[in-house]
Amino acid sequence: MWEIGVMLNNLEPDRLKAFQAARDHGFRVVHTNTLREAWLTGPERVAYVAAARASGLRIDTMFVGYDGQDYRDLPTIARTVGLAIPELRAHRLQVTLAYSDLARDVGAPSLGTHLGFLPEDETSASYRGLVETVRTVADRCAASHQTLHLETGQESADTLLRFVRALDRANVGINFDPANFLLYGTDDPSSALQKLGPLVRGVHCKDGIPPLQPGVLGEEVPLGAGRVHVPALLAQLAVLGYTGALVIEREGGPTAVADILAARDYLRRLRGGVEAIGGAG
Ligand code: MG
Repeated sequence: MWEIGVMLNNLEPDRLKAFQAARDHGFRVVHTNTLREAWLTGPERVAYVAAARASGLRIDTMFVGYDGQDYRDLPTIARTVGLAIPELRAHRLQVTLAYSDLARDVGAPSLGTHLGFLPEDETSASYRGLVETVRTVADRCAASHQTLHLETGQESADTLLRFVRALDRANVGINFDPANFLLYGTDDPSSALQKLGPLVRGVHCKDGIPPLQPGVLGEEVPLGAGRVHVPALLAQLAVLGYTGALVIEREGGPTAVADILAARDYLRRLRGGVEAIGGAG
């Protein structure tokens, strides 16, 4: 049955202390947040690998990110986030490949990433260039027996599906984050999960409220307090035969740790209900 994990640095921002903090809270599975690029090659890398290994935690997915990313609003995201930014792509590709090597060294079987906003014109050179770049990442991951998980929500499920099909790589799946569809106003989480179901390799348990007007981001809220229908989400995952972890993500708010622990209790109760009806394999 589903292990309940946590987005590691929502629990403790310090990248070295966080592993032990997760253990102290009783977690066994985590997704790791992004690191400053210098950590991928500098002395911090050694310390990071040592902290990860010493914790005994299972790192299901290592999330990739880049210096200069800023999620404050949609225009800033469009300008700064992900491999989608053409002028930063060559550099960020090298950074991503370094993450694959780091994931190998900490025993993480997958990388996850927000690509940023995909180019709208799917016949454009920019779109094709992004496909080629992500294929290069996927192939490096495959060589290290890793999968690559694209985070959902910055585009609709249909748009993401077309991109994954264009990639045509068997080791590419998705990390399903229901709240992102609401925060970005891109899709309905339930219908998105129906479309993306066979590709789901990871799940973020995060909640949100859609924006009040187009062109702005919605609000991330504690799990169960937003518009994600969490019981229905778990029932749907059970039907899909998803057996991976449920990873709690709580990015903001003054009581993130308390919110994460409350979310774990909530998910345990719901999981018990799904188990009782024999719904998940
Ligand atoms: Mg997420």
